[in-house]
Amino acid sequence: MTRILVVEDEDRIASFLLKGLTGAGYVTAWAASGAEALALAGIDPPDLIVLDLGLADLDGMEVLRRLRAQGQTVPVIILTARTSVTDTVAALEGGADDYMTKPFRFAELLARVKLRLRTANADRAADAAGAVLSVGPVRLEAATRRAFVEGREVALSAREFALAQTLMGRPGQVFSRGQLLSLVWGYDHDLGSNVVDVYVSYLRKKLGADQIETVRGFGLRWRPPA
Ligand code: CA
Repeated sequence: MTRILVVEDEDRIASFLLKGLTGAGYVTAWAASGAEALALAGIDPPDLIVLDLGLADLDGMEVLRRLRAQGQTVPVIILTARTSVTDTVAALEGGADDYMTKPFRFAELLARVKLRLRTANADRAADAAGAVLSVGPVRLEAATRRAFVEGREVALSAREFALAQTLMGRPGQVFSRGQLLSLVWGYDHDLGSNVVDVYVSYLRKKLGADQIETVRGFGLRWRPPA
């Protein structure tokens, strides 16, 4: 189910877009103002936004700026009656993914919607693929939180996974226990507890006794690949 938010203050154009997109199989939502668009996108981010620049309250560019400032990476296709090159450049630099000037044919908008959704999916897949850590016999998949030893899946708790991920992210680097407490548990001071060593012992049991090395007087490190 792919959800598209249409931000357009003119009823006629909005209903034309909603009808067309619904007919093409998308689930649609409509915001008639910039404020409404930000509220809707904030509560439940859509998969794509079609954003009119000429809104009655906030300028579409301001809506876009606030969305990006919130860290929203949703693809945005701008619709506008403005045709100057400056506006196009401003929209793209402001974080828009694509740009269409009115009047436009629905078929052309639909083609761009499909292209942007495909690109966004490919980006997500690349992110997920990049988040696979593999050192020696151990492999961690960040997106699915799964761990494997020589291809065999091993169940790790969330903390165990986070500790393995931290150490494996920089094989050979020595982390002090204080650093690990901060990075994995979020403690900013050493509690004098042996929680790190307890978790290291769990990981040694699950992932192999010699993956994590103790560097006496300094801390712990993931054994670098041979
Ligand atoms: Ca408008």
